[in-house]
Amino acid sequence: MTISVIEPHGFCAGVTAALKKALSLAATLRDNPSTSLYCLHELVHNEIVVDELKKRGFTFVESLTEVPDGATVLFSAHGVAPQIRETAKVRGIRVVDATCPFVERVHKAAREFAERGLHVVVIGHPGHIEVKGIVGEVGEAVVISNVAAAKEFCAATADAAARLGVVSQTTMNADEVAEIVAALKPSFKVETTAEVCNATKLRQDAVKAFGGDAVLVLGSASSSNTARLCECAPCRAFRAGTMDEVKSLDLSGVTHLGVTSGASTPEEFLKAAVAWLRGERT
Ligand code: SF4
Repeated sequence: MTISVIEPHGFCAGVTAALKKALSLAATLRDNPSTSLYCLHELVHNEIVVDELKKRGFTFVESLTEVPDGATVLFSAHGVAPQIRETAKVRGIRVVDATCPFVERVHKAAREFAERGLHVVVIGHPGHIEVKGIVGEVGEAVVISNVAAAKEFCAATADAAARLGVVSQTTMNADEVAEIVAALKPSFKVETTAEVCNATKLRQDAVKAFGGDAVLVLGSASSSNTARLCECAPCRAFRAGTMDEVKSLDLSGVTHLGVTSGASTPEEFLKAAVAWLRGERT
């Protein structure tokens, strides 16, 4: 079996910057071991990264109610709603914000659409932390995750004069985002900034162009961009989040495997997986 590493893959700029902030905060524990460090939600959706940060002293929480007053909290790369920032301020919680600038851009676009009186539509997955933050930015928004849901929304919303301001979660399938926008346009006046971030697009384009007969995407099951890379593959697609999962893959019949990784997957994992797949068992 031939193994090719698909480029680009792995950490995007937003994840690299978020991790740098986390490691710099963790380093402060050496001088002040009594400090409590919290991270609101997984910093990035990768279990290897999260486990490493736990070892370095972070406690991961799903709500600020779990964070004591005066503690330090890191906001994840996926962004938060303004109400959460306000709560932290009122309670004297020190915030280090690792929100990716591309996510901030989506918040700004949604806010501006809402301020101009447009109905905000977020193309994204309803339970995803990034989507919750964007919806929280505007208070009220419709979340649409696929073309079928877009068509249902058009059929159920009779007001053809309604003006929609459409934004997108940054890690959606780029083609699907365009299809959803196209499905909305015949029924409404649509203004849109909806597109995935550049890192997502480049990784998806590289997978789509791969010419082998299977793709292995390394990344956690909770990672949206990892799941979308699997969907983009023009051939069979496998996903693995740990070395145990890599070792248990059934790759029988595969002659040319392309290996890539999600934007939150550490490079060391990809290197170890590729070495194992190439038979370098030490
Ligand atoms: S995938 Fe895109 S939006 Fe998400 S952290 Fe990376 S660069 Fe930022």
